[in-house]
Amino acid sequence: MVVKINDNYLKLASSYLFVEIARREKAFQEAHPEADIIKMGIGDVTRPLSPAIIKAFNDAVIQMGEAGNFMGYGPEQGYEFLARAIINSDYEPYGVYLEPDEVFISDGSKCDTGNIQEIFGIDNKIAVTDPVYTVYVDTNVMAGRTGFMQDDGMYEGLVYLKCNAENGFVPALPEEPVDIIYLCYPNNPTGTTLTRDQLKVFVDYAKENKAIILFDAAYEAFITEDDVPHSIYEIEGAKEVAIEFRSFSKTAGFTGTRCAYTVVPKDVMGYTANGETQDLNSLWNRRQTTKFNGVSYPVQVAAAATYSEEGKKEVRENIEYYMRNAKLIRESLTDLGLEVYGGVNSPYIWVKTPNGMDSWEFFDLLLNEANVVSTPGAGFGPSGQGYLRLTSFNTYENTQEAMDRISKLDI
Ligand code: PLP
Repeated sequence: MVVKINDNYLKLASSYLFVEIARREKAFQEAHPEADIIKMGIGDVTRPLSPAIIKAFNDAVIQMGEAGNFMGYGPEQGYEFLARAIINSDYEPYGVYLEPDEVFISDGSKCDTGNIQEIFGIDNKIAVTDPVYTVYVDTNVMAGRTGFMQDDGMYEGLVYLKCNAENGFVPALPEEPVDIIYLCYPNNPTGTTLTRDQLKVFVDYAKENKAIILFDAAYEAFITEDDVPHSIYEIEGAKEVAIEFRSFSKTAGFTGTRCAYTVVPKDVMGYTANGETQDLNSLWNRRQTTKFNGVSYPVQVAAAATYSEEGKKEVRENIEYYMRNAKLIRESLTDLGLEVYGGVNSPYIWVKTPNGMDSWEFFDLLLNEANVVSTPGAGFGPSGQGYLRLTSFNTYENTQEAMDRISKLDI
């Protein structure tokens, strides 16, 4: 007898992207110790937690040291005070009504979007948009829903929905039947969005085909335009076919603090092998109560503080700070004659590489000539080739400096 591993892990293509970015950045810095590199590739926020959040966080930490007030294990699904605050502030203003037990609080959308596939059968056909937040793909590879990566950069068995300038970054419906569709809007990495009508096409498809949409709205807080839905549940019928993921990470600076939530309406159904309906809310509840023990109390109190009057104002100010950077990036690069997408409802700016350069060539040009680190689009999937991602999460001063340097380049 020998211990057998999950062979599916060996199908994973190495996470070449961020390792290679770091390698090239390090090599450049060693060769040019004087160079002041500006990181515009980072997906992490830089603004600290705001005062109202810190005060609530701190008070809750103090409470944890007080006999009688100390909080032990909480509900695995999260405290009701936070679920109610989420529903009141994130959904009801958009005409979406949820019950607290349809909201599952967690320590991140990465784990939730990665773990959700566990409640679905192994033989479901999965569709992802291309380019894509790679967690959706890799977790399905690990679970055994795919074959190996092919020469075209796509995993065998997965359906890729192309998003590029030619189709306005609006994915077409899958040409072959699929059971589960991952959508992320506002999108990482392209920064683009779908209108209500465009999203409705997918909801209608899911209803007609008894499919499920896994809707990642981690960047919802960055939406500025009216025709962009904040939640998939704004679309009629979506409560029967969609699970939605939200995170406090980019919204309120919780990348290091960790808090997110997943909405699984009680009406959203899957099917048993016998074709009987089964609600997904109870399956996710079972999954979470078995494998997860809840987010720490002070973190949930801090998350709830993002919905206080002060908290909302401060959160908005931070988002506006990043969006000012996004506008600067968009305008500077557009003035240079580059084709630029995103950055209006999203902290990400997706740039078409000039002069037929591939993603890595443009990355190298920006690193070598402007000392700016970006993220090559090819790392997010085959349709990302020929694009590059910049983020607005740096300081305004660094963003300005980076744009000044890029503007001086001959491109
Ligand atoms: N979903 C998308 C699309 C993301 O880009 C990210 C983080 O970069 C996450 C989820 C992860 O969020 P969290 O910090 O809540 O795990």
